Amino acid sequence: MVTKKKHTDIWVIADHSNGELEDTSISLIAEAQRLAKDYHTGICLLMMGKVDIARVQQIDISTEAKFYIIDNELLYNYDTNTYLKVLAGIVNEYHPLLLLFADTAMGRDLAPRLSARLKIGLVTNCKLIRYERNYLAASKGVYDDQLYSDVVYLGQPPYAAMLDSSELDTYLPNKQCKAEIVRLTPYLHPTDIMTNVLSIIKGNPRSIDLSQAQVIVAGGRGILGSFELVEELADVLGASVGCTRPVIDEGFLSLERQIGQTGKTVSPKLYIACGISGATHHLAGIKNAKIVIAINCDPKAPIFKIANMKVVGDARRIIPSIIAQIQTRRQLLCSAPL
Ligand SMILES: Cc1cc2nc3c(=O)[nH]c(=O)nc-3n(C[C@H](O)[C@H](O)[C@H](O)COP(=O)(O)OP(=O)(O)OC[C@H]3O[C@@H](n4cnc5c(N)ncnc54)[C@H](O)[C@@H]3O)c2cc1C
Repeated sequence: MVTKKKHTDIWVIADHSNGELEDTSISLIAEAQRLAKDYHTGICLLMMGKVDIARVQQIDISTEAKFYIIDNELLYNYDTNTYLKVLAGIVNEYHPLLLLFADTAMGRDLAPRLSARLKIGLVTNCKLIRYERNYLAASKGVYDDQLYSDVVYLGQPPYAAMLDSSELDTYLPNKQCKAEIVRLTPYLHPTDIMTNVLSIIKGNPRSIDLSQAQVIVAGGRGILGSFELVEELADVLGASVGCTRPVIDEGFLSLERQIGQTGKTVSPKLYIACGISGATHHLAGIKNAKIVIAINCDPKAPIFKIANMKVVGDARRIIPSIIAQIQTRRQLLCSAPL
């Protein structure tokens, strides 16, 4: 049976694919766990859309939690008004203390609208939330994260925060799943849908926003004369192309491809730096990259200090051999008997 509580639990509004959580939501669960411990409260994860329960049952969580599942055909494609209606309805019914959204397309769309609809305080670009002197306080990045401002929530809960999950720890799962799965069935009618998704077209990784890219191949001044190699490696890996400032100054790429202090801050799973020295202005933009592979002919290049994998040599020779290796292995995989 679902027990209704008065503004107690911390809710994570999950980004997921058929019940499989996105990394951003996993980071939010970790944040919710930390907060719940300080606050002595419970955690709820809300999944809307098509949800494979078998997958949800595999989500490991080290604290007791409730998973609210709303699997309704009308929610299979994200539609702002429909999601807003459902979310506002259940927030009014279950009274969470705090709603955590990830800084994703859905979070950016839904959180401000929910805040306006329910008149609840929302902190965007939030880096950290803490309980302080009887207030729930949040640190927010301002001026492109050059400064941080501390804010407190006033008024009555619920409160909401859109967290910059690239700054959060990745959640380390416990083998024991203690989550209670609760299916909710809010009232929805086909007339609630205001837009219809006709097709979904995959974006070109070369041109997607670098701050959203999972894999980035970046080139610097050391590979300027052969920059097409950086683009070729990116194509083979399905990665996005980034660069340092000299590449922009020379007119090889447009400004939105620059990574660093005066460019984009990125948080890919894999960052391959080709012919990049590792100046502090550039490193400021890649501090959230999970794995950095650096290719540089100078063994003393500063980039090697932060690289997980170091390749010392001429990038003009190394990149083609990496591409050849990837292609050979792919061919072997394709020709292997099933
Ligand atoms: C206020 C300010 C803001 C700035 N903001 C940014 C920013 O946002 N982003 C940014 O990137 N820069 C920024 N810069 C510039 C920054 O300080 C560096 O000058 C720049 O990052 C250096 O780029 P690079 O690594 O491509 O070039 P370099 O520092 O010249 O390094 C080239 C590297 O390539 C290696 N190399 C040469 N040939 C080869 C080869 N054949 N194979 C392999 N390696 C080779 C060299 O050993 C060297 O390490 C800023 C500067 C200022 C003053």
